[in-house]
Amino acid sequence: MKLKIRTGFGYDVHQLQEGLDFWLGGIKIPHTHGALGHSDADVLVHVICDALLGAANMRDIGFHFSDKDPQYKGIDSKILLKEVVHLLSREGYEIGNIDSTICLQEPKVNPHIPAMKTCLAQVMGIPENDISIKATTTEHLGFVGKKEGVAAFATVLIYKQ
Ligand SMILES: [Zn+2]
Repeated sequence: MKLKIRTGFGYDVHQLQEGLDFWLGGIKIPHTHGALGHSDADVLVHVICDALLGAANMRDIGFHFSDKDPQYKGIDSKILLKEVVHLLSREGYEIGNIDSTICLQEPKVNPHIPAMKTCLAQVMGIPENDISIKATTTEHLGFVGKKEGVAAFATVLIYKQ
């Protein structure tokens, strides 16, 4: 039997605004500012969705869950991620591993990474060991450094027998 292996990549940005809840990696981060978006604006969950869809050549998150559609207004992005995993499994794909980086000037992301991994592993039904989450600032440069926004990148490997 031939093993089919594919990789995917995701990139996303959200504006940060004062007074909003800050959802990141499936959990709520305590902070003065939160990400702005049609959904809960969880940038890490969005890049994982995009990377998974890209790996399967199934377009992107906006294609499946339009930001013009009122049913997705304020939606928990973990619901979208669960649906993406379901879409892939219908095509016979399983997740090999995920590697990701969050770009954020503040607050510090590192203390929250274990909780994010636990949460996302549960949502996707994969071992925590298959999810890597890294964090970096941009040394005060650009929109991330100026605390105007948060960005994230993810790569994934998927396979089917
Ligand atoms: Zn997004």
